Amino acid sequence: MITLSNIEKYYSNKGIKNYVLRHVTTQIHPGEFVSIMGPSGAGKSTLLNVLGMLEQPTYGKYEFMGEDVSLLKESKRIELYRHHIGFVFQAYHLIDEMTVAENIEAPLLYKKVGGAERKSRVADILDRFNIVAKKDLFPNQLSGGQQQLVGIARALVAQPSIILADEPTGNLQSTQALQIMDLFKKLNQEEGITIIQVTHSEVNATYGSRILHLLDGVIKEDEAVLT
Ligand code: ADP
Ligand code: ADP
Repeated sequence: MITLSNIEKYYSNKGIKNYVLRHVTTQIHPGEFVSIMGPSGAGKSTLLNVLGMLEQPTYGKYEFMGEDVSLLKESKRIELYRHHIGFVFQAYHLIDEMTVAENIEAPLLYKKVGGAERKSRVADILDRFNIVAKKDLFPNQLSGGQQQLVGIARALVAQPSIILADEPTGNLQSTQALQIMDLFKKLNQEEGITIIQVTHSEVNATYGSRILHLLDGVIKEDEAVLT
């Protein structure tokens, strides 16, 4: 369960507060698939980063899995993040010097998962995503769509309950984008993984169940997607 209560975020510049998020109050329940939409500069990425505990709000209360995030020590926040959250980025953020298999394995090293277990989990996910043949290639040897599959595989390997995705298809052709959205929908519906994505795409948003429309840091509308 995610509860945001009156979240504000501002950057001070010469004593002037520039608000990026204002009065953001909402809840996100397990199993939801939420899209955050709004114009450039509306605060979408900031909201996603707050949800992922990568940025702290200036004011307000964020409860994640029953914990008040602002009260957590850094080490505990990182532990919660590694346990529950998989992050997917528009520009993939794969490590160029590491192979596909090594990129996917990385979160398991951080979590100190043992070698045999790491190997089997990586093999499983390569198989599931149909990218076994690519495992020893480097990211720059893959198409954008393939790189994003690797990015999602890496986000999933540690078995998160929530995927946070910032414009996950922003760099992809439309057919590749639809494949990624189909995959998200499947993860959401078949595995109950909560998905929160930032997107500019109306089409992408129809894959989810709910749209938060953000404007100037404010949630202007909380829309249910009709299926
Ligand atoms: P969006 O994802 O909707 O495009 P962002 O969350 O990236 O919006 O940014 C919202 C606003 O916050 C922008 O006006 C941006 O300039 C401002 N902003 C983001 N990060 C910083 C920062 N570190 N310092 C100052 N302003 C920032
Ligand atoms: P508590 O307040 O006791 O932590 P929660 O309702 O926060 O209980 O969570 C109960 C369980 O449900 C957690 O162990 C967590 O794994 C799962 N869970 C909670 N929120 C989410 C979510 N948004 N998406 C997926 N799983 C969740």
